[in-house]
Amino acid sequence: MTGRPPTGELIRVRGLVQGVGLRPTVWRIAKACGLTGEVLNDGEGVLIRAWGAAPNLDRFCRELRQQCPPLARIDALERAPLGDPPGGGDFRIVESQAGEVRTGVVADAATCPACRRELFDPTDRRYRYPFINCTHCGPRLSIVERIPYDRSNTSMAPFRMCPECQAEYEDPGDRRFHAQPNACPVCGPRVCLQDPAGGRLEPRLPDAMDAVAAASRLLSEGRILAVKGIGGFHLACDACNAGAVAELRRRKRRFAKPFALMGRDLGVIRRYCRVSEQEAALLAGAAAPIVLLEADGPEVVASDVAPGQTTLGFMLPYSPLHHLLLGDWDLPLVMTSGNLSEEPQCVDNLEAVERLGSLADILLLHDRAIVNRVDDSVARVMDGAPRLLRRARGYAPATILLPQGFAEGPPILALGGELKNTICLVEDGRAVLSQHLGDLEDARTAREYERTIALYRDLFRLEPRVLAVDLHPDYGSTRLGQEWAARDGLHLAAVQHHHAHIAAVLLDNGWSLEGGQVLGIALDGLGYGEDGSIWGGELLRADYRGFERLGWLKPTPMPGGVKAILQPWRNTYAHIRRHLGWEPARARYGQLELFAWLGGQNLGVLDRMMQAGINAPMSSSCGRLFDAVAAALGICCEGISYEGQAAIELEAVTREAWPLPAGYPFAVSEGPGGTKLLDPASMWLALLDDLAAGAALPLVAARFHRGLADAVVELAGQLSSGLGLETVALSGGVFQNRTLFEAVSAGLRQRGLQVLAHRQVPTNDGGLALGQAAAALARQLGDGP
Ligand SMILES: [Zn+2]
Ligand SMILES: [Zn+2]
Repeated sequence: MTGRPPTGELIRVRGLVQGVGLRPTVWRIAKACGLTGEVLNDGEGVLIRAWGAAPNLDRFCRELRQQCPPLARIDALERAPLGDPPGGGDFRIVESQAGEVRTGVVADAATCPACRRELFDPTDRRYRYPFINCTHCGPRLSIVERIPYDRSNTSMAPFRMCPECQAEYEDPGDRRFHAQPNACPVCGPRVCLQDPAGGRLEPRLPDAMDAVAAASRLLSEGRILAVKGIGGFHLACDACNAGAVAELRRRKRRFAKPFALMGRDLGVIRRYCRVSEQEAALLAGAAAPIVLLEADGPEVVASDVAPGQTTLGFMLPYSPLHHLLLGDWDLPLVMTSGNLSEEPQCVDNLEAVERLGSLADILLLHDRAIVNRVDDSVARVMDGAPRLLRRARGYAPATILLPQGFAEGPPILALGGELKNTICLVEDGRAVLSQHLGDLEDARTAREYERTIALYRDLFRLEPRVLAVDLHPDYGSTRLGQEWAARDGLHLAAVQHHHAHIAAVLLDNGWSLEGGQVLGIALDGLGYGEDGSIWGGELLRADYRGFERLGWLKPTPMPGGVKAILQPWRNTYAHIRRHLGWEPARARYGQLELFAWLGGQNLGVLDRMMQAGINAPMSSSCGRLFDAVAAALGICCEGISYEGQAAIELEAVTREAWPLPAGYPFAVSEGPGGTKLLDPASMWLALLDDLAAGAALPLVAARFHRGLADAVVELAGQLSSGLGLETVALSGGVFQNRTLFEAVSAGLRQRGLQVLAHRQVPTNDGGLALGQAAAALARQLGDGP
């Protein structure tokens, strides 16, 4: 020692820093750096008071950033001099007092490498224990009932820790220090095998075979298992056993929507799919999402796994139970959500026996309750970056930092849309977007929706003063917001659907409140427009506060309303009738099978609807344009069995025609008040000419994608240069289409425009609530400078 008095510093750590093992990391590094002082959680994050030689304090801060625990995210490390003299000669973790800690709930995390090693180590006391976890991994959101995030407030409460687990829990030097779900075979949850009638199977198992090993063997015999996981149930079967996969489809009544797969390791996945470095990192991260991969490996799974697709959705095992179940499996397993088609995933044991008993041969259950349903997240690498298509397990409820300008303002709760619903809380410069909840049209989901609102308000202690909703008067979420606002005297902010999409993508990219206007391109299914018609192919001049509609797809009626969503051919007929005229088109292309088929439908009824404007709303939807083109090519002509199926299968077909050939032309015509309309008439003529000339479907599908992308880029280029806008923001469900998204992005960049697209939140309606909250907050914050 030099004899010089130690320097004191107050170090504030902000970010995802509570409940993720940051305090013990601080403690360990502080001791290694010879510092004295203390660390504690408080309402703003983690606070450190430290004394030591100045270079040691620098080293401490450097190492803390470098050795940040896997689940933590340090957004800021602020240092200030501390006048107080040092306390004792040690470094301590100070217990936080109740009420001080604002949030400790983070996302569920995949089993960490250290726990995985112990799981398969025969000498470890947790060898083959399906609930092994530590501070760096395990369940969080799925088990929490209320805050503070302590064991007594989770579904681990009934399991009293044994002395060994308790000692780990209390030792700051241990990986399980304050790991709330800490457990072992002596004191923790257990698995069991049940038959569909609810009878236990273990007594009948051969010696030395545990329930998981028995389950694994049943799968190899072609059985279908219900498996209770972290945030819900899966239905599992051998993905290479065509009989088992077909039987699962029949029982689940899910005939086309792809099944997710789980592979034991990257080696297994690479036999079926090409996996880039970026995709491998995404698969193996702590969030462990389903990643959509190109299915062009040397081997194939049963064709029924993903009919009509060129991709497979793969994930790696993320719970110890999965690691054990797949330990001996060299083949992928189907791991699809445990439900009947369209219903939310099951979470409760009794409910599982009741609802899944007819779907599964055997149930692999356990006795830890799933408090909150958290579905598997879905991600895809597109245009060079990982992008979330469903944000749930592993991501929610991680906070999203709001960009500059959003620090002030009242607490806001955004209630989302109708399909793929999420809710969003905003306060003090941060947003919390809930996990994917599902479609509110489903009664079960609607009940869960209200429960989730209550949970999030409790977890994040938010008393909203503003409720943000969609403009659509008939969304369940809008009605809930209207009633709530009227009852409690809250401000209600209605945000137009596509403006919310654009606000979401701005926020997703850290665009500041005063960042200025952008050209927003919202290509979407359906959203209620300000004029009462249905929008969905929009070019908007927008910022967070508002928007102006500059251009859109030339409107087409949707004969039959909702029926036009379910039956793509209705859109084909409406498009041809409106943009070409049915009789002239039939005179020219009558020899095409399409015309014969359409002619066999009851077109008179559709004509009357469209003529009278009854049950045939006008729509500029890009999703319906995709439906119309898909059905013209005979793809999902009569009906779809899941949202977006026709568009997804149309895109899949283009893969055989890569690179994209020259596109079909779209014309631009003048709309009201100097606006621009993208007119598909010329596209239809070129497409039907191709069909009449016997062109192959992949070529036609690819020319449609290319043509639409070129037209959007061309119009966006004209509009942005006319207005001096340099940035284009892309959002809406149609941008899940990789072919279109990458073609549009590349085209815009070639024109020297900056392109903003979604990464952290979905481009579909799963990101809507974030945009609603941002738009509502921006309005509250006034007109700016
Ligand atoms: Zn762990
Ligand atoms: Zn124990």
